[in-house]
Amino acid sequence: MNLTYENKKIINYSKKKVEMYTSDCPVRVGDGVEIFTAGSKIGNRVGSAIACYYFGKLIYVDSHRLDDHATVFQAEAYAFFMALEYIDKMNSWSKASIFSDSLSLLSALASPNRKSWILKQLADKIKTVNTHRRLSFFWVKAHIGVVGNEEADKQAKLGTDKNTIDSPVPRSHNTMKADIRRNIIAEWQNEWASNAKGPQTHKYIPTVSTKRKSYHPFIIQFLSGHGRFPHYFNKFGIAYNPLCDCGEVGTPDHYVFECIYTQSLRFKLKNTQTRDQLIQDPSNLHIIHQIVGWVNDFIPRL
Ligand SMILES: [Zn+2]
Repeated sequence: MNLTYENKKIINYSKKKVEMYTSDCPVRVGDGVEIFTAGSKIGNRVGSAIACYYFGKLIYVDSHRLDDHATVFQAEAYAFFMALEYIDKMNSWSKASIFSDSLSLLSALASPNRKSWILKQLADKIKTVNTHRRLSFFWVKAHIGVVGNEEADKQAKLGTDKNTIDSPVPRSHNTMKADIRRNIIAEWQNEWASNAKGPQTHKYIPTVSTKRKSYHPFIIQFLSGHGRFPHYFNKFGIAYNPLCDCGEVGTPDHYVFECIYTQSLRFKLKNTQTRDQLIQDPSNLHIIHQIVGWVNDFIPRL
């Protein structure tokens, strides 16, 4: 079997430090084992795998399915951990090389600021194994036909097919943050949907969003229904008459969609099919602003 590597960077681990440097491809000349690692995420399933070679011969493969919430980075790191475990367990070699196509993992391992749980586990494991083995770590370019890398990748994909999870991993910091955010927004949406207050606002903003910008007071009058509208003034006993001068009930929607006095402005509105679409168009907001502005001037000061 022909094993060819295109090595650009090599990370050497010593007891004192981990450093990264560029070197030519190493030549397999001695008593070492070479382990290729891979992580894979397909759909919502995650797998990690190792493919171990000895003088170019595939001698061992192993694949695990991880928790579905695991990230690709965690899968790559876990595969690296599997390689170290294998080296530790097999008492056969004094030298071992681990190959990963994840430069971000190798860089993170070389960095002294290892914060995540999985990187700390890896660093501890490296320390243990390195006391009785000579370890070398290599970056290998993915998807260029390097046999060991292809095999590990294939095994990692097979790992995702397993029916049960072999290896639980904690949620990563970023996954956790995204989950919390999603839950908070879902809770907020439920609360908003079940809240009977603000029917006018509900019509135009059925969905909560953290991205909604702030609106001009005239737009807020329209969206909340709380403004200088005859219907509103009448409802709260401020005015006797709820009607517009045209004879219809003077609600915010009346002025924007029906009233003959605001016809010339209304013709400029676009996307009027659904109400939440309507207010997403900034040019519509400008027209609604003008209409409510007109109503504010039109309704006598009380
Ligand atoms: Zn009217």
